[in-house]
Amino acid sequence: MSTIVIKIGGGEGIDPCALAPEIAALVRAGERVVIVHGGSHETNELARALGHPPQTITSPSGRPSRRTDRRTLEIFEMAYCGKVNKALVEALRREGVDAVGLSGIDAGIWIGERKSAVRAVEDGRTVIIRDDLSGRVESVDGAFLRTLMDAGRTPVLTPPAVTPDGIAINVDADRAAAATAGALDADELLLLSNVPGLLRDRTDPSSVIAEVDGESMEAARTAAGGRMQNKVLAAEEAIGAGVQTVVIGSAGGEGAIGRARAGAGTVFQSAGAAV
Ligand code: ADP
Repeated sequence: MSTIVIKIGGGEGIDPCALAPEIAALVRAGERVVIVHGGSHETNELARALGHPPQTITSPSGRPSRRTDRRTLEIFEMAYCGKVNKALVEALRREGVDAVGLSGIDAGIWIGERKSAVRAVEDGRTVIIRDDLSGRVESVDGAFLRTLMDAGRTPVLTPPAVTPDGIAINVDADRAAAATAGALDADELLLLSNVPGLLRDRTDPSSVIAEVDGESMEAARTAAGGRMQNKVLAAEEAIGAGVQTVVIGSAGGEGAIGRARAGAGTVFQSAGAAV
């Protein structure tokens, strides 16, 4: 019996509900499964429809993130915790999974500090944003998630997280999934999205880097651009936290989870893991 954390991306073209039958098969086989999902595309669509279009800020190191003012956080919650989370819980329940949809705020599952100052590069200048509602997951209530799984339930988790004093914060779902996998001593973390893996050449889908270990981590970091940087960081953090295997793979097509588990995509392995 393994503990498997599966993060399903929220990029354009990903249908998380299509993975429900495969998740159900894992749960039926007795695996302990935790689902984490994103919702960036749905959030962007909803934000435009509501007249508060999405804004991206880029850190000095080139990592993009969502500018999260109070109104954006509300829209983010509507999309992540509302539309995407409930659709996935519904699809899983239809497959016979006792799925429980929760955000990181609920029960304080994901606790993190809000960034008091976000550095962003605008027109070549670095500016400081002080009212952003974003941060990073620092602790995960693994005991609570274990209680749910011990009772036969499958947690379906999504951002936001929450600060110790109760402020909701936008956090990166890949890194939240990594922290969750670490807290649960998970055997596997699957980061599934709309690309087949970490690509050596972003424009060539056949250039998937098959394996990353301690020595090739630097090269993996260099290959990753845009939001892929968060996935590589998440993989590194999960391995550092003791997760045996992390795979960055595709969420698309039938059998996507099985393929990723079989090594399709980019496999990160801890030094001690059996190959
Ligand atoms: P999700 O929302 O599904 O979690 P993201 O959009 O955050 O996924 O991250 C995946 C994106 O990262 C890809 O769609 C691609 O545009 C981008 N990317 C940048 N560099 C790379 C790379 N080297 N290999 C693969 N994808 C990359």
